[in-house]
Amino acid sequence: MTAQATATERADQLRVLSEQASGCTRCGLHETRTNVVFGYGDPDADLMIVGEGPGQHEDEQGLPFVGRSGKLLDQFLEEIGLRREDNCYIGNVVKCRPPGNRDPRQAEIDACADYLRSQLRLVDPKVVVTLGNFSSKLLLKTEIGITRLRGQAYKWWGRFLVPTFHPAAALRGSARVMEEMRADFQLVADVIAGKLVYEADPAPAESDSSGAEPEEAAAVDAAPVDQLGLFQ
Ligand code: SF4
Repeated sequence: MTAQATATERADQLRVLSEQASGCTRCGLHETRTNVVFGYGDPDADLMIVGEGPGQHEDEQGLPFVGRSGKLLDQFLEEIGLRREDNCYIGNVVKCRPPGNRDPRQAEIDACADYLRSQLRLVDPKVVVTLGNFSSKLLLKTEIGITRLRGQAYKWWGRFLVPTFHPAAALRGSARVMEEMRADFQLVADVIAGKLVYEADPAPAESDSSGAEPEEAAAVDAAPVDQLGLFQ
């Protein structure tokens, strides 16, 4: 009962945050958005998916990952027994669409970071999946591209992070990209099933600066998520 009450409280807090974000003017992206795309899914999920930012369809509908990319994402989730509203929560680094689908700027990322930190703290997933180069490199603090980053689970702030391709890249790419993305989601299923055990490093590495190798990024564990130095 206590766990249920806690989940309810966290769902309430997410709803309050979403309402606050719906009128947010912290950065210039509010001037061109149609809707704030705060996030969607199960507030008590084992899996949280983080993309870069809303695209045109997401901006129009106020929901993350709609259209063909969203359908493909749903298919990968279904293949590991998940649905976006059931044991999965989807959000983005920035909640408003950058004009022309450009990458978010650092000031916009910084302005929006508290929302993502709060989502991670409240959902408290076992595993985070980053979709595409931008969110993968940002959260893992590395310059290594997604093609080399993907294919493994990194220890990340007390949980695992699995970087994979953006579904749009899989739709544009070869069958190999599709199969590698499928393999990454199988890794996610293994984490959720407890086949990968998280063990905190006895002496976490000091370095978390941009450009860290994945192994270094993997050492940033066991810190309170409130203090998550996500993007600095
Ligand atoms: S991107 Fe984030 S910080 Fe900027 S206006 Fe939208 S919700 Fe606010």
